[in-house]
Amino acid sequence: MQAAGAMPALTLRMLFGQMLPYPDAIAPATTAGGNCSGTSGHYSGGKVNSEKLLENNRFWAESLRARDPEFFERLARQQKPEFLWIGCSDSRVPANEIVGLMPGELFVHRNVANMVVATDMNFLSVLQYAVDVLKVRQVIVCGHYGCGGVRAALSHEELGLIDNWLRALKALYHQNRSSFTDLDEEAGVNLLCELNVRRQVRNVCHTTIVQNAWARGQELVVHGWIYGIKDGLIKDLDTTLSARDQLDDTFLYEA
Ligand SMILES: [Zn+2]
Repeated sequence: MQAAGAMPALTLRMLFGQMLPYPDAIAPATTAGGNCSGTSGHYSGGKVNSEKLLENNRFWAESLRARDPEFFERLARQQKPEFLWIGCSDSRVPANEIVGLMPGELFVHRNVANMVVATDMNFLSVLQYAVDVLKVRQVIVCGHYGCGGVRAALSHEELGLIDNWLRALKALYHQNRSSFTDLDEEAGVNLLCELNVRRQVRNVCHTTIVQNAWARGQELVVHGWIYGIKDGLIKDLDTTLSARDQLDDTFLYEA
């Protein structure tokens, strides 16, 4: 991975090896199920005091400063990330941590089920700033197996406002329903997780933001990955796009 010239040489792996766990670290409970926002998978006992988080933060900052006294001063002056990460809000998929990147190395947007919605001003603002101003060179759409948002979209349970956010997933399932015929529930959820990543990669590239970047010759590659909560490993879905001639003509704007 190429870091900007002023970025630190430290890696998260180095830090984890030497500094973690925090003193009296919060122990993760055994996890089950795939809810993005359910109670399973959260910390044991549910009695973690927020003061503990602030204490952890002080330990983290002091430890980092001890190894690299200039670290925060450099970051405060500039961020120059190579990557934009578009991922799920699920607490089990922390962006920087699972790809071993430090603060300053990953620009991040997360929402339930890692959706790319053409009318989402939050997402569009992140993408535009990342591409036009920060000039990230790679965009990563990373879903995960067992996604609770995807699971909800495959069910008929009414969860509230979020049902509207997830409805595009129902449409995606409907378009591909013949592929789900022989699958059990878990396999169906995971197939839709993969289809969703592939769709969102295309949605990123259908924006005028990405197409204008390509038109002016800016290098920009969009990847589709999926993370396995059960083994911690990321799989590349080989759905990478990097040029307008890889898109269907329907979605192209005049260059
Ligand atoms: Zn999820």
